[in-house]
Amino acid sequence: MSQQIKIEITKQPKQKPDSNSLGFGKYFTDHMFIMDYSPEKGWHDARIIPYGPLSLDPSTMILHYGQAIFEGLKAYKTADGRILLFRPDKNVARMNVSNDRLCIPSVDPEFCIEAIKELVKIDKDWIPEAPGTSLYVRPFIIATDPHLGVHPSKTYKFIIILSPSGAYYPGGIKPVKIYVESEYVRAVKGGMGFAKTMGNYAASLKAQAVAETKGYVQVLWLDGVEKKYIEEVGSMNVFFKVNGEVLTPSLQGSILPGITRDSVIQVLKSWGMKVTERRITIKELYDAHAAGTLEEAFGTGTAAVISPMGELNWAGKKIIINNNNIGETSQKLYDTITGIQLGKIEDKLGWTVEVK
Ligand SMILES: *Cc1c(COP(=O)(O)O)cnc(C)c1O
Repeated sequence: MSQQIKIEITKQPKQKPDSNSLGFGKYFTDHMFIMDYSPEKGWHDARIIPYGPLSLDPSTMILHYGQAIFEGLKAYKTADGRILLFRPDKNVARMNVSNDRLCIPSVDPEFCIEAIKELVKIDKDWIPEAPGTSLYVRPFIIATDPHLGVHPSKTYKFIIILSPSGAYYPGGIKPVKIYVESEYVRAVKGGMGFAKTMGNYAASLKAQAVAETKGYVQVLWLDGVEKKYIEEVGSMNVFFKVNGEVLTPSLQGSILPGITRDSVIQVLKSWGMKVTERRITIKELYDAHAAGTLEEAFGTGTAAVISPMGELNWAGKKIIINNNNIGETSQKLYDTITGIQLGKIEDKLGWTVEVK
């Protein structure tokens, strides 16, 4: 049931920002993709139109109950001028998992990838080319019934916007300081932790704000029940190298199944390294540190790819990991995954999709 995408090109293209001033999520391209959902027509009226504000009735359900989901992926320009997406099939598959949890009708995965490709193609001149930069792709779906009753909306909008994004590490990769959060929790099993939905982010802001006032960059989330087990770091998945073995929390419903997480696991296994997905307590990490076997710690996500952690503070007890340097495995993972994304390393696993 693939639809035609109607295209309306803007008559007033915007001035493109300087590639040194990009940052993250500050600038948006000339066009956006929109399609609507109604029970009668299903997903319909797919269109690419000039980027601009939406007009919503103040009673629109998303504004009141947060019934919405999103995704995030990047388009990269290779040295030879090709445009690559990284594992977009995983993003659209995850979008439907999130949709199901939020009672939002599913989307046609193939058509979504087409829509992303078409939009990226139209705004391809916005893809920055400086090292480390990319075009961030943000698909999202919002509930649009003008109604204040608490029930799933009948109508929705699926929108894709694009934002040129600066290098995550303009000054080179530097490990960050992490506050282990013992008061607030992000998600619990049975809740929405495994879905990419706005509410999880709203729930995380307070802890992040408090950690920042204490001089920390991000929080390490513990499980919501016993506050013993490690879950995620900020909005990234988390890995530890202990005595040569790489550990990451198993997905139990409260953790977001990251695509970078999955890629890291597959790359490590292809190198013959031992990777274990299981529950990991914060205490065992501190014990490993005391025994001298906590070798590396890093977060993974689309934005940073690999983000090493240099310091943890758990209830006032501070530990420094790998002398506050990026570890060998972390660096090799960063180089390998970004190398595949940029078409510099052979893509043996078939992860990149060319936009042409
Ligand atoms: C998006 C996200 C991640 C990382 O997922 P990627 O697919 O690797 O970008 C991790 N945790 C949370 C809570 C997220 O929202």
